[in-house]
Amino acid sequence: MTKGTLNILQLYPKEMNIYGDWGNVLVLKQRLTWHGYTANILEHSAGDDFPDDVDLIIGGGGQDSGQLVIQQDLQAIAPRLRELAEDGLPMLVICGLYQLFGKFFKTHDGTIIPGIGILDLETHGTNERLIGNVVADSEEFGEIHGYENHSGQTHLGAGVRALGTVTKGAGNNSQDGHEGARHLNVVASYLHGSLLPKNPAIADFLLRKAAERKFGSFEPADLDDSLADLARRHAGARPR
Ligand code: GLN
Repeated sequence: MTKGTLNILQLYPKEMNIYGDWGNVLVLKQRLTWHGYTANILEHSAGDDFPDDVDLIIGGGGQDSGQLVIQQDLQAIAPRLRELAEDGLPMLVICGLYQLFGKFFKTHDGTIIPGIGILDLETHGTNERLIGNVVADSEEFGEIHGYENHSGQTHLGAGVRALGTVTKGAGNNSQDGHEGARHLNVVASYLHGSLLPKNPAIADFLLRKAAERKFGSFEPADLDDSLADLARRHAGARPR
């Protein structure tokens, strides 16, 4: 018997889904099943009606060209996304969608792609590409492992806090040591890899917030995360 069903919505699976970001959806689905719940995976692509019944939202990275393709639709669904974020709905956005959850992304050729302003931050394209393995320390989630590949550099405003502080790699930009952003129950990160297989604490945070919002409580099972621990140790020991 299932403890309940959560509707997990993946934003723009065609355009915004690179460097293995799809793995994040698979992890949420599998861990939710292991915890004794049922996952219903929904997709939203440009032009689709936004579904009524959503419990968790997830979105990946994309090339600048993919960001340009989805920008109009993202603005159309922005009021709904803002309302859900304010209501405590958990969201995970990676790289390209992370940038667009901020105020704007000014690409290296000067094109401004407006963001939806859920996160108080802005991104500027540069000629420098930040590529490689990243390790970041986070008070909430412990050590976070992932892989970055971006030329946009993000600067946080006063309305958000960083997800973590890098001990390897660049993260948000090449200057301040911040990686990602946290606000409400939104987790934003530059890290692909994908992020959640190596960072089950973040996956369970998202599932917990979604279950508590829908059912009033989350009753997780005790999961064996030794494979994730092994992957983290290997990833952390690899060069940039
Ligand atoms: N196009 C954006 C950049 O290069 C995002 C890239 C990504 O999602 N990996 O900064």
